[in-house]
Amino acid sequence: MHIKKEKNDLIVPVKMDINSTFTFACEKEMACFTQCCKNAHIMLTPCDIIRMKKRLGLSSDEFLQIYTTLGFIEKTDLPIPVIKMRDDEKKTCPFLEESGCGIYEDRPLTCRYYPLSAGMFHNRDLNSDEHFFALIKESYCLGHDLGRELTVKEWREDQGIIPYDEVNFDWAELILKRKSLGPFTTIPEKTLQMFFMGCYNVDRFRRFVLDSMFLNVYIISEERKKEILEDDLAMLSLAMDWLKATLLGEKTLKIREQVAETDPVEVEA
Ligand code: SF4
Ligand code: SF4
Repeated sequence: MHIKKEKNDLIVPVKMDINSTFTFACEKEMACFTQCCKNAHIMLTPCDIIRMKKRLGLSSDEFLQIYTTLGFIEKTDLPIPVIKMRDDEKKTCPFLEESGCGIYEDRPLTCRYYPLSAGMFHNRDLNSDEHFFALIKESYCLGHDLGRELTVKEWREDQGIIPYDEVNFDWAELILKRKSLGPFTTIPEKTLQMFFMGCYNVDRFRRFVLDSMFLNVYIISEERKKEILEDDLAMLSLAMDWLKATLLGEKTLKIREQVAETDPVEVEA
């Protein structure tokens, strides 16, 4: 996930790990204030969408329709919502106000990380994930080499990134496992739709769970049923279990015995 700007902006990514250091300051008084909120390519994670739609008092359908356009995750055919910039001369972010970000406390992960970008690498042989980061120096951003020296770890804490990790972890794993299959396997359209609904449209996924045969097919505890009705994050966690079971064949959800005997199991999305 990253903020991508004009081609003539200087972008020098420097690979870093969690203990790498960089020197950076970002203040309202700086001449470049909010330059990073214009003509930006901001991909949204599942956790971003849940926080932003709640903040704006919208359903996930409404939020996706009003504020996003469709993008694709790098080196995959997997879809991801991207913030739709305003149709003005500078292509400003729709959440930008005169005083700065209008949704600052719920700003997306990409904005929190900036000027860093974050990535994960899945080692198939070791079945482990490696996190890596990059420092992006763009010509319009005047914050580099000012202020105090920070480690990546400290920046993540300062910017409130840690709570996003757990929520987005299963989603990131799904993407990595898909990537590790290589570019030559095609995902059917219906599967891509399931992926999109499960990852980014929690309200629609909730309707799907309640209105389809889902609860007859899978064993879901009474406690979990109660949680998913009340809590978007609990519903997202169920969606991740469902996607891992259906897309990767993992045993993240238990199928009722009667259903298992009458194979194949299919729940229409
Ligand atoms: S210093 Fe960089 S991140 Fe901060 S407002 Fe300026 S352009 Fe944006
Ligand atoms: S969400 Fe906020 S911080 Fe991010 S680009 Fe838009 S206005 Fe800037």
